[in-house]
Amino acid sequence: MVMKLVCKDYGHDCEFIAEGENVEEIMKNFGKHSDEEHGLWYSDESLKQIVQNKYNIK
Ligand SMILES: [Zn+2]
Repeated sequence: MVMKLVCKDYGHDCEFIAEGENVEEIMKNFGKHSDEEHGLWYSDESLKQIVQNKYNIK
């Protein structure tokens, strides 16, 4: 399953969509983008929370 996180959904005026085949990959892609493009760094724990909330992963 390909998972997606839309940057816009997290408060940025931005069309970036992070994709990943698994939780780790999408965490990495979204975290990297947010850090590099918006100067906003998420901890691994926060990133995991974001993915879990969106996809209801327990
Ligand atoms: Zn963005």
